[in-house]
Formats: sequence, C-alpha cells, structure tokens
Amino acid sequence: LRTPLASLSDGDLAGFLAEQQQAYAALQERHLKLDLTRGKPSAAQLDLADALLHLPTGTTDRAGVDVRNYGGLEGLAELREIFAELLWVEPSQVVAGGNSSLSMMYATIVDFLLFGGVDSPRPWSQEETVRFVCPVPGYDRHFSMLAELGIEMVTVEMHDDGPDVAAVEALVKDDPSIKGIWIVPTYANPSGAVVSQEVAARLAAMPAAAPDFTIFWDNAYAFHHLTEDEAKSADILSLAAASGHPNRPIMFASTSKITFAGAGVAVLAASAANVAWYLRHLSMGSIGPDKVNHLRHVEFFHDAAGVRAHMRRHRDIIAPKFAAVDEALTEGLGGLEVAEWTHPTGGYFVNLDVLDGTASRVVALAKAAGIALTPAGASFPHGDDPRDRNIRLAPTFPVLDEVRTAMAGVATCVALAAAEKLVADREGGS
Ligand code: PMP
Repeated sequence: LRTPLASLSDGDLAGFLAEQQQAYAALQERHLKLDLTRGKPSAAQLDLADALLHLPTGTTDRAGVDVRNYGGLEGLAELREIFAELLWVEPSQVVAGGNSSLSMMYATIVDFLLFGGVDSPRPWSQEETVRFVCPVPGYDRHFSMLAELGIEMVTVEMHDDGPDVAAVEALVKDDPSIKGIWIVPTYANPSGAVVSQEVAARLAAMPAAAPDFTIFWDNAYAFHHLTEDEAKSADILSLAAASGHPNRPIMFASTSKITFAGAGVAVLAASAANVAWYLRHLSMGSIGPDKVNHLRHVEFFHDAAGVRAHMRRHRDIIAPKFAAVDEALTEGLGGLEVAEWTHPTGGYFVNLDVLDGTASRVVALAKAAGIALTPAGASFPHGDDPRDRNIRLAPTFPVLDEVRTAMAGVATCVALAAAEKLVADREGGS
C-alpha cells in the first residue's frame, strides 16, 4: 500500500512530483483524443435497439386508432401501461410524450411560471422570488434550466440515501419562496445515490410553506442497473398521496438510454389533477405526440419485462467500463488519499472527488493531454463548486480500451495536481 501523499517528507514529495511530471509528459506524447464528458450510450448500446429502425409493422394501436394521424395527446395506452408497471403507478397517471424528458421538465416549469400549478395561489412569475432546493452534486442541465428561467438555487448535500433530508425539511418549512426540489432518485447523476424509502417518505410528508411546493422526481436512471442487485425506486406518488400532498411530486423518465438517445420516448407521471393540468397546457401547443414512435417502442418491448431484459443487455456492455474506471483509479491513486470515488450500482456516472482546490487543474491537465472531461464544477449551480474538488466521469460512450487508457491518464492528472498543490501549500506555509 502506498503512503498517503500528505504524510511524505518534503524530499519524498518532491520526488513524487517529479515522477508524476514525467508520467504526465509521457501521457502528452501519446496524443490521445478521448472523451468522457457526457453520459451518452455507446454505439454498441444503440445497436441493441436497431430493430426499431424496421418498426412498427402495424399502423393502428390496440383500440384500432391510426397512429399515423393526429390525436391521442396523452400517448399510446399500451406504452403508458408498460411505463406504469415499470414506475409503479397507474396507467392513467402516465403521459407518454416526445423524445425528451428534459423538454417535459422545461415545459412543466414554464407552465408553473406562466399559469401556476394545481395548488398555486398565483403563477410563479408573479412571486417576488422563486427558489429551488438543489442537491449537490447534481445534474448540470437541471441547474442551467433554473438559471435560464430566473429561479434561484439553494444547495443541500447529496448523501448516499438521497438529499440531506433534514436540511431540506428545514428550508422548505418556513420559506414560501421555495417552490421545488430536483431529485434524481435512482442512481443519481452524478453520485449514483439511490433515494431510500425513508428519505422519500419524509420528502413526501414534510410540511412546506409553499402550498405548491413540487418535487421534480427525475427518474432518468430508474431501470439502469449495473449489478444484479437492482434498486427499486421509492413510490413517491403513493407516498405523497398518502400524506395528503397528492400533487407534490411530478415524475419523469425516458428511453433515451434504453433505446435511442435522440429518438426514444419520454414520460411524465403524476396525480390525476397534475396530469390534467399538464395536458391542458400541452394541448395549446400540440395536437398529439409521435404515436408511430410509441407504437414501434411497444412492438419492440412487448411489455415491462421486455424493457427489463433489454436493460440487462445494456448492463453487459457498460458494467465492464465502470469496473475499468475503478481499476484504473485504484491502480493510480489507491492509498495516496488524494481522491475518493463512487462505486455506483447503476446509472451513467462515477463521481470523483479530488483534493480540494485541484479539480479545475485536473480537468485542464487532462484536456492538454487529449482527455476531455466534464468541466470542473459542472455538477453545481452556476458551475461553481465551492471546494473545487468534484469531477463527473462518464465512461459509457468510449469503447472499453479507451476507458482504460483515459482513466489511467486521469489518475496521473489527479496525482500530479495533488502533488503540485501539496508542494505549493508547504512552500506557502514555510
Ligand atoms: N435527467 C437526467 C438526470 C439525465 O442525466 C439526463 C440525460 N443526461 C436527462 C434527464 C435527459 O433526459 P432526456 O434524454 O429524456 O431528455
């Protein structure tokens, strides 16, 4: 086992720094061109769904409606049934929409701003201030969406069992300007955390000063297991209904990382009142969704079991990549105590925390060596990680060998940045 870097003598630390500088120079000479920036499925994963390119074979749904024509705003009944079973809700609570759940989230928040929700005293745009609780690290697009819409963000820590629920309760209880919270309940982006039943129950039941406080329950990775120990998402709609807040949660999911990331199907699930509210506003801008795409997804999966089986094929492709990330980081950094990383059992990301104050340096070093990483701080509102230590790794898109090469390089960059920082700190202190 290696000695923790911080406990090396000045001389040994200088030697370690020199070694890492050499390793980094060698890395640069390889002229790599690798990309771990975004959680995208690889070509091999997309290939799994290629049968979709020849579907649907039919032109009518179960009820005999021609899917090629207008109508059916809530989506194909048989597809809503599949998602209802997967998400533990009733088919009537599910809307099947276009290709992007992010668009449904955006539309929902814009509707809150313009019209107010079912329990809103007035549109959010008429409030002096609208704020959301944002567990960090979190999904960068959630945060940029709020920034774009003028919604302020208050951070709480993301724990292994979900957001710091005591902190959330305290914020929400007395402050009516807090209108929402983002939650990625299953295999969170980027921490991989799964919201426990207990945390979900507290979020559903907690008193909120705003009558229209809303949980944006973005279950983007609900079925994206990396092991046989498959996490089951808490049933937030039932929990909220049982504690007298039926309209509090709005759930989102999609097949972006199940079938095609650009041509899947997204769904929203919520109380009957919220579904009616969403569809009423949607009907002003749409005559109906792409039911041809809905039908081909139904023909492709047949049922919920078909989706689960398909996800196991994804797992076989990507689990080795996550193992490669862990191996490379352990090999390069184990024992040095300059980094901690997650061991997710699902989802698309590994969360890497490096020595405070070095994440931006690591990302810059990696970039100069041809390894593109998500910008440091991306998982925080306004891209601002107060400790400059968080890096999101997305290993699914490159092929396995590239993941190995890239991650060995990242480990070198982490070790180099840490050694530089420790040397500078000692020099500064002396
Ligand atoms: N939510 C989360 C947490 C995500 O990580 C992503 C994709 N990176 C999305 C939503 C986007 O979903 P969609 O493709 O359905 O718009």
